[in-house]
Amino acid sequence: MTYQNYSLKQLQQIDAAHHLHPFTDHKDLRAAGSRMIVRADGPFVYDSEGNEILDGMAGLWCVNIGYGRNELAEAAYQQMKELPYYNSFFRCTTPTPTLLAKKIAELAPKGLSQVFFGSSGSEANDTALRLVRHFWALEGKPEKNRIISRKMAYHGSTVAGTSLGGMEGMHGQLGGAVPNIVHVMMPYAFELSLPGESDHDFGMRAARAVEDAILEAGPDKVAAFIGEPVMGAGGVKIPPASYWPEVQRICRKHDVLLMLDEVITGYGRTGHWFAAETFGVEPDTITTAKALTSGYQPLSALLVGDRIAGTLQEKGGEFYHGYTYSGHPVACAVALKNLEIMEKEGLVERVRDDTGPYFAEMLRERIGGHPLVGEVRSVGLMGAIEIVGDKRTRERFQPVGSAAVLVRDHAIGQGMMMRATGDTMILSPPLIWTRQTIDLAGERIARALDLAEADLR
Ligand code: PLP
Repeated sequence: MTYQNYSLKQLQQIDAAHHLHPFTDHKDLRAAGSRMIVRADGPFVYDSEGNEILDGMAGLWCVNIGYGRNELAEAAYQQMKELPYYNSFFRCTTPTPTLLAKKIAELAPKGLSQVFFGSSGSEANDTALRLVRHFWALEGKPEKNRIISRKMAYHGSTVAGTSLGGMEGMHGQLGGAVPNIVHVMMPYAFELSLPGESDHDFGMRAARAVEDAILEAGPDKVAAFIGEPVMGAGGVKIPPASYWPEVQRICRKHDVLLMLDEVITGYGRTGHWFAAETFGVEPDTITTAKALTSGYQPLSALLVGDRIAGTLQEKGGEFYHGYTYSGHPVACAVALKNLEIMEKEGLVERVRDDTGPYFAEMLRERIGGHPLVGEVRSVGLMGAIEIVGDKRTRERFQPVGSAAVLVRDHAIGQGMMMRATGDTMILSPPLIWTRQTIDLAGERIARALDLAEADLR
């Protein structure tokens, strides 16, 4: 029996009775009922009522090549028929993860030529955390195990991911984090820069917070610094240009490994295959997931730099870590096809040279001047709109977050899916958006802002 045999009401009742959703207040969900998305095509998703919604979030930052790509379904089908599963443990492997690892190494920044597969970004960060600690233990420095992260960082939802992340609400429900992880200030100039402080100086100050944490613990106790090149779930916080080069200089000076979490930014979102290139950083590890398969299959890849991989291979000894689905052949076949399509269609270059700049212009020209908007910012096809009650003082509406939820709900009503984090509206659309799609998004967002303003004032 397919879902078409059920009414929306019935589906919502079944959902409320049996389905616990991620990051959800289940009391609220039970009262309001869930929105059923039933199909999707290109840049649009469709709900069970037949509403067409422009997907400004690419699902959950992942559907980079858009919906309805039959080639990916075909790649999965062929692989399932030939070899639906075999593992990569005990000196075995299968062809697709082998070829995908080679492909990722070709696309990756120089010096990152080894890949460890998992099924999710959280798993990949778990691997990254264990790997850097294992690396220092192999180097004879097991006490060099502290990790520095940032407040409001999001690195996933497993115990390790939550501990690495800097979300207070999540920590509050953890009942004991992974030890030896500290969180420093985030590079969020809109709220944290001082009066008269330039962007450059703010970026340097935020980077110095990393050095302070290294010095406080002692460099011989610090394994690594981890950061999203652009903080995503925390509110598309784009650091000033001075930040990453300075963080890198500090890490090198103190022999602290640099771990980038590119689960959102990897595979083209910022106009380069990896945001490491956009921001001029040469990390020791890069965590990726989401857009590796454009979300069509669950798959993550941790890119490992030559220094760490070299030590693993020279010193030997088993790294007691891996997942049943590490290198899943079907997911890897889908990823290979996805990357092939991205290359064939030149999507990364298009974001860098055309749609990224046009998206920035749309936000600036059509949205930036709105009375509810305190700032717009973007890099590639990743953007944020700060909602404020007073443009000049940047004072927020009370309670914090309520105005952005109102904008989000009006946006969905106007056929525009975007997300609210605190009072920041977030956009991260499929990389197939054209100038016309960007114009359509601009119209719908502007209307949503007008409607929210009418409610708020
Ligand atoms: N890291 C970052 C930067 C993310 O944005 C996310 C998810 O949004 C994750 C890690 C976790 O990935 P997953 O939800 O696949 O476990």
